[in-house]
Amino acid sequence: MEISFYDFEKLHNEEFRQEVKSLLGEIIDKNAFAEGEYNKKFEEDFAKMQGAKKCALVANGTDAIEMSLEILGIGHGDKVGVPGITFYATIEAVLNRGATPIYVDVNPIDGLICPDSVKRLSEKHELKAIIPVHIYGLPAPIAELEQICNPKNIKIVEDAAQAQGTFLPTGPVGSSNNLTTFSFYPTKNLAAFGDAGAVLMPSEELYNKIKVVGNHGRGDDEAYGRNSRCDHLQAAVLYKKLEKIEGYNKERKSNAALYHKHLEGASVRTLPQKYIETSSWHLYPVQCESVEQRIKLADLLKEKGVSTTPFYDQAISEMTPFKGFEGEDTNAKNFAGRTLCLPMTPFLTEEQIKYISEIIKNA
Ligand SMILES: *Cc1c(COP(=O)(O)O)cnc(C)c1O
Repeated sequence: MEISFYDFEKLHNEEFRQEVKSLLGEIIDKNAFAEGEYNKKFEEDFAKMQGAKKCALVANGTDAIEMSLEILGIGHGDKVGVPGITFYATIEAVLNRGATPIYVDVNPIDGLICPDSVKRLSEKHELKAIIPVHIYGLPAPIAELEQICNPKNIKIVEDAAQAQGTFLPTGPVGSSNNLTTFSFYPTKNLAAFGDAGAVLMPSEELYNKIKVVGNHGRGDDEAYGRNSRCDHLQAAVLYKKLEKIEGYNKERKSNAALYHKHLEGASVRTLPQKYIETSSWHLYPVQCESVEQRIKLADLLKEKGVSTTPFYDQAISEMTPFKGFEGEDTNAKNFAGRTLCLPMTPFLTEEQIKYISEIIKNA
């Protein structure tokens, strides 16, 4: 059985394609390519959906993080805590600000940023900010981090690129008092037909600051910025997708529950059951016993038609361009090599999940 990692055929089915084509046709007919009515509509509806005061669309998820750091006043020489398990973008945003990353270790069970590590590092380094990542879609322990960071005025920027559909104990991701960043890259849960991103924030003031930075400093006579706008065509696609996203995220959650059920007794470790309802299940990672087992399992699955990805086969501190910064990375290194992500889409069938699980159990 062939099972692909993503399923764009089903996501962009004939009905959806027709609807989007007519919407994009309208925009082309009006020559309204820069920020337009759908930017505004999306920003309003997405802020409401995520329980945030405001949403600002930007060009991509990396810019969203970088500009968040910028409006918080973080720049050259400032130390910013970055978890060891994440995508390049998180640390790139720090480096592109001229700031210095400090590696924060992760929880060995789920790969999420470890509050104890933040606490230790905050005693050793003058951290200006940390960037907890809701990695795989799992909710990072924001309340615990706030307890450590708020008294020391360490800012928190939540990287929610993989977490559209994730819930914190207090509400949806984006509803905290922190800046929360999203990517709408085509493979994310909520995705454009190209690049886009967003920042969610708890105040009008922060919203205005992001808009000024992302549009060449316009609106502030004393500032200059950059170009990080989201064009009208992408905003319209995203707006159209909002109608379906809650249903799709529900399907991801039930598919994660099915994987958990059918993988019972397998030699790989699944993530804790408590995440079934709270994770966005952007990815479905399992932990193998060793790097060798991960590679063998990926090969075996491939032979049987199942595509997988080793997100992330290295801790960020082990990657060549990012070597040599201070911090803690023991658990991250140990976690990274053993992780294998199985296919996860809203469109998987129980039969497919059973097929994949049986291969793993018989391996
Ligand atoms: C995808 C992603 C980003 C940023 O993505 P862009 O490609 O810049 O839109 C940032 N952080 C994480 C964890 C991601 O997965």
